[in-house]
Amino acid sequence: MCGIVGYIGNNNCTDFLINGLKRVEYRGYDSAGVAIFDNEGNKNIIKSVGVIANLQAKLGKEIKGNIGLAHTRWATHGEPTETNSHPHISANGKITLVHNGIIENYAAIKNELQKKGYEFYSETDTEVLVNLIQEFYDNDLELAVRTALSKIKGTYGIGVYSTDEPNKIVTARLGSPLLVGIGENENYFASDAASIINATKEVVYLEDKELAILYKDKIVHKNLDDTLLDKKSEKIEFDIES
Ligand code: GLU
Repeated sequence: MCGIVGYIGNNNCTDFLINGLKRVEYRGYDSAGVAIFDNEGNKNIIKSVGVIANLQAKLGKEIKGNIGLAHTRWATHGEPTETNSHPHISANGKITLVHNGIIENYAAIKNELQKKGYEFYSETDTEVLVNLIQEFYDNDLELAVRTALSKIKGTYGIGVYSTDEPNKIVTARLGSPLLVGIGENENYFASDAASIINATKEVVYLEDKELAILYKDKIVHKNLDDTLLDKKSEKIEFDIES
């Protein structure tokens, strides 16, 4: 389990994502990746084995976008290779997922999905989850995520994006840390406050089996069973040095 960071707003988020990953570099990881989207429907997924600087070099200056998901991986299922690195994409190319944690029953689900014709390219448990979300997807990403999460055993801190619903990122956690950060016409999520503290100090920590649906101008909190939650934000009192 390592780190995730995400952004939705109006500004280019490439530097925010890379800096967010760098802030959790000390934890150790074997590979990293980002998915960056923009309002014109452009999508870039860049992955790299090794240090974040490798990923940053691959990204260059040209790749820009105002929605993004980023991940550092500590491989549990499959070697640290670019193919196994996150973000993972569903078979139809529409759903993108970053995941910290372990899907314990991934083999059985993979088997079922393969019978339905799904092909898998990585050895990860995470690629099974993104395809399970696709399997349940019917123009409602949040519902598809909740349904998929109700079928899995294991741990997760996730960020999910669908090109069919480009105005939101769905996040959720069970057994892996996750918080959301509130900005001015932009919002963030991360597994560690250090990743977003330079952008905002106003955060909400998720509890197990909670979801947060991030739009650029609001965040909706729910339980896995679809109950709306009235979560209060708190101010982080420390700065990046501490
Ligand atoms: N189990 C996933 C994998 O091996 C996620 C590992 C992590 O938390 O970094 O890809």
